[in-house]
Amino acid sequence: MTNRQLFLSHVAQTSTAPLMLEIERAEGMYMYDAAGKRYMDLIAGISVSNLGHSHPAVVEAVKNQAEKYMHLMVYGEFVESPQVKFAKQITDLLPASLNNVYFTNSGAEATEGAMKLAKRLTGRSRFISFQNSYHGSTQGALSLMGDEYFKQKFRPLLPDTLQLPYNQIGELEKITCRTAAVFLEPIQAESGITVPDRAFMQALRQRCTDTGTLLVLDEAQTGLGRTGKMFAFEHFDIVPDILLLAKALGGGMPLGAFVASKERMATLSDNPVLGHITTFGGHPVSCAAGLAALQVTLHENILEAVEAKSRLFKKRLVHPSIRSVRSMGLMLSLQFDSYEQNKQIIDRCISHGLLTDWFLFAPHCLRIAPPLLISEEEIKTACDIILRSIDETGS
Ligand code: PMP
Repeated sequence: MTNRQLFLSHVAQTSTAPLMLEIERAEGMYMYDAAGKRYMDLIAGISVSNLGHSHPAVVEAVKNQAEKYMHLMVYGEFVESPQVKFAKQITDLLPASLNNVYFTNSGAEATEGAMKLAKRLTGRSRFISFQNSYHGSTQGALSLMGDEYFKQKFRPLLPDTLQLPYNQIGELEKITCRTAAVFLEPIQAESGITVPDRAFMQALRQRCTDTGTLLVLDEAQTGLGRTGKMFAFEHFDIVPDILLLAKALGGGMPLGAFVASKERMATLSDNPVLGHITTFGGHPVSCAAGLAALQVTLHENILEAVEAKSRLFKKRLVHPSIRSVRSMGLMLSLQFDSYEQNKQIIDRCISHGLLTDWFLFAPHCLRIAPPLLISEEEIKTACDIILRSIDETGS
């Protein structure tokens, strides 16, 4: 049996149409399949590989740490230097009120931990999130998801949740003194990139403060430079009470985190003690990889170039079939008329060696979220392939 056949019979999938590429190695902007065909990665494993694949500094950090130690003890018991250094580096980049990091394995677990922290801190149970939002696939995170189709067969979920329309100031009055927390992506990703107004974000921050509600910003996709700032909330001059990080955080290794103040986080060790537990959260190899990736991001001034690269994409991606381009930094979305048209274009791109994808709640939109290191030449090549693919599908 081939690996592809074994994949279909023994590796569980929940997609009915997996891409089925069999990659043998990946380096920088490119992946190579078993036949030696090269694919430019325009989606970075869904906003993960900000420095491209297997960046040498990250690989070295992984090797060094794996040789010293891997798992030692459940999270939070031992002083593990990669965790300590990484938590210090992250909190140094954040406002003083975000000075304490709880490391998890994934984005969904960061959401779950933040939900528990909000309940513990406020004594309230109501959560508010937004239509078309995605915060993870576990049952608490799913309760926040802003799409009924993906939730309906998994009910009962958490009872006291409400999804508001995104970016509508008038709706914010539904946040009340009964609300434990509001969860929001500062740029909504899976809706096909929705950038909120600054006035909305500031009103949201104010409403949360006025009602004693915790504001949780989910920066799983936007964090660590994708929007041109280290954290997307910096675009809006607001500070969350709890920050969620994941995806790019581990430099390609599995890692998530929720970040809050030391005082707030301390409630998770009081009545009950061990208010949140994970075996592998903040794995030393993942933290070493994440730290190395963050240091490269900082030292090589990678964020400075993000906006110009975004502009170059937008300048080049002009075609009558592209209905709109929505973007913030290197998160872009090309809107077509239908999923069928988009899928045909995506398939053509892949056959031309350019890997792209659609969005969970916007299947008619094509995703562009490349490694931040993408060069101008590579952007031009990617845009040429997209435009050629649109023409080839007769769109
Ligand atoms: N939040 C957001 C905004 C996400 O995009 C994702 C993943 N797509 C998650 C949370 C969940 O992350 P994970 O898949 O690591 O659980």
